[in-house]
Amino acid sequence: MFGFLKKSSTTAVLAQEQPAPTKAGPSEASIALVATLVRLYGAQAFDTDDRSAAALASMCERWAAHLLDGTPPPEGGESGPGGLRRFFERQRSDEVHYVDVALGDLRAVVSAFVQGLTRIAAFDGAADGQAIERLERLREIASSGSTDDLRRETLSTVDLLASAIQERRVRHRGELASLGERIDALGEALDEAKKRGEHDPLTGLPNRGALDAQLERSATLATIFGRPSVLLLLDIDHFKLVNDSLGHPVGDLVLKALAACLTRAFLRRDDLVARYGGEEFAIVVQGAHERDAMKLADRLLAAVHALAVPAGDTVVRPTVSAGVAPVVPGESAAAWLARADRALYVAKNAGRNRAALAEPAAVSKTPGPSSAGSVSGSPRRSP
Ligand code: GH3
Ligand code: MG
Ligand code: MG
Repeated sequence: MFGFLKKSSTTAVLAQEQPAPTKAGPSEASIALVATLVRLYGAQAFDTDDRSAAALASMCERWAAHLLDGTPPPEGGESGPGGLRRFFERQRSDEVHYVDVALGDLRAVVSAFVQGLTRIAAFDGAADGQAIERLERLREIASSGSTDDLRRETLSTVDLLASAIQERRVRHRGELASLGERIDALGEALDEAKKRGEHDPLTGLPNRGALDAQLERSATLATIFGRPSVLLLLDIDHFKLVNDSLGHPVGDLVLKALAACLTRAFLRRDDLVARYGGEEFAIVVQGAHERDAMKLADRLLAAVHALAVPAGDTVVRPTVSAGVAPVVPGESAAAWLARADRALYVAKNAGRNRAALAEPAAVSKTPGPSSAGSVSGSPRRSP
């Protein structure tokens, strides 16, 4: 037991309820010590739901003053050692309650957090066994382990999750990149397929479909803008003989060699050299006028004359016949092609290895054959 110093006294006196100091009462030194402890307790106060740290520090200050000077205790509390003891009991029990509740809340938050993460990890389904295991352990510790274990386990789980998330990000980036590559490859395959669809597999030249499309375009440009174009339709002379005498593979070689020869002779980007079918080819020379049509035919024949295809111990020198048709504004692509075809028939009938200019189109009032040396006015070729 200890006594209190009366406020009015200049020396320490015992509180009313205490026996005389000379007998068993506390010394001034012990009262001063208790006052110091009370102040220290106040200095280390922390906020609780019921009282702020500052309020508790101030109360402790007043209790210390009560001990030392006999000033009234704080909040009109009971004075004397009994009052101080009850103040401490209540304060301590409030603090214990506060810490219990706060810890419980923390455990509940960690549990809910762990539950959420577990659901996300399970949903993602990717190699997250380790993360789920760790989260399970964290949940157990959150519900019953020490706060130290909880802190340690939470920190290491956060580390593990951080590296798992980083690893997943890298993996997703990689998956996206490979998806992009696959899409590119698919795009290329589609382009390739489209090319194959428009090209003749033997010669690599655009096929009949591509030729038809080009004829449509050129006929439209001629009709709308008056843009000229010349179509040369050519057929290898007596090609059947090549096949029959040297074999089909040699015939194929000749077709390929002629395709390359025509491509070399009509190099411009706007020129289209196509395989029309069998041993027939077509060339569309965009921007070429009617007056130049037979010059183009001459260029074609000269190129073919220069062609020699080695075939075993022999050399094949093919010749061609050609129908030459400048487009006439207003005519259809089919009509244009038919005129070129009839001109080709004329060239064949005139002895082969030559070109013939097509007859004027029905839609045209003025145009007609204009090149010297041309043959025109032919009947339609028989099939
Ligand atoms: P013409 O001067 O009247 O055109 O006589 P031709 O022998 O060239 O004409 P014909 O229509 O009688 O024969 C064409 C030949 O072309 C027959 C056919 O087997 C051949 N041929 C068509 N396509 C191919 C092919 O891809 N490869 C080979 N080797 N021959 C082909
Ligand atoms: Mg033919
Ligand atoms: Mg032929």
